[in-house]
Amino acid sequence: MSANAKSTVTVLGLGAMGSAIAERLRRTGHTTTVWNRTAAKTRPHVEAGSAAAPTVADAVRASDLVLVVLLDHASVREHLDPVAAELRGRTVVNLVTTTPNQARETAAWAAEEGIAYVDGAIMATPDMIGGPGSRLLYSGDEAAYTSARSALETLGTADFEGADAGLASLKDMALLSALDLMFSGYVQAIAMMRTVGVPAVETAREVQAWLEPMLSYGPGLAAIIDGGTYDTGGQSVDFSRAGQASLITASREQGISAALLEPHKKLLDELAATGRGDSDWLRIVDLLTISK
Ligand code: NDP
Repeated sequence: MSANAKSTVTVLGLGAMGSAIAERLRRTGHTTTVWNRTAAKTRPHVEAGSAAAPTVADAVRASDLVLVVLLDHASVREHLDPVAAELRGRTVVNLVTTTPNQARETAAWAAEEGIAYVDGAIMATPDMIGGPGSRLLYSGDEAAYTSARSALETLGTADFEGADAGLASLKDMALLSALDLMFSGYVQAIAMMRTVGVPAVETAREVQAWLEPMLSYGPGLAAIIDGGTYDTGGQSVDFSRAGQASLITASREQGISAALLEPHKKLLDELAATGRGDSDWLRIVDLLTISK
């Protein structure tokens, strides 16, 4: 029987995210069984209509579809490995944040054990689950994804990235990298403006107003990278180096470290030192590839 047909779902892990997921599944009419290492956290879920299982094995046996919302890769393997026999023939959707290779490793283990495995990445916070802005990425066993899809779609927009189980995680890590670097930029601007008494919240508003229209340039910049010639006459390495040098000097003059800015300048310097000062500055993308 498919996971959809039975419409019962087990949720392993009732932290902030697992709880939001279990609640959403209940609200959308799914019969849910929950398990959590700290058993007391199952209480509100039981009061709301879920069944609580005393062990992972019991939880797994309750449903054809098992959603894993533990902390990290280590906790996933710690709790799934011992119940491989119970998981056989069932679908596991692992929503835990992992690296692509950790996802592939778990997928390889699942394949050996006869477990249908889908790796997921949650592009949302717990309060967004089930709401319009919630998006989840999936990769791995497509047939298993299809069978679980109607339950998964209750959590947010569901996008299947491909059969390589690491793909959802890779996109998750890439998008989070962009987010991290962007918010590091907020912190740099805030630190600089605090030196003249401007509150962080005020600078954050300024940064947002500045970045919102700037973001629309992203696809154009990406097209230069896809073109691969770096001779479009856009902002050059040498031009960018001068700009970056000013940012670094201005920070230091205000008594603020330039540690967040320096790596970018270092890459530009490397291009200039190897005779590529006239290239589009986006050529730094080539320096990010580390040969294995
Ligand atoms: P929480 O810290 O709120 O909850 C962690 C959960 O993992 C708890 O149920 C905890 O159990 C359990 N846990 C931790 N270590 C172990 C272990 N060794 N064995 C068994 N259970 C363990 O985290 P979240 O719920 O927020 O996050 C869960 C996953 O979702 C993470 O991988 C996170 O990266 C991902 N995620 C979270 C987002 C968010 O905004 N919160 C956004 C996107 C992804 P116990 O109650 O016993 O401590």
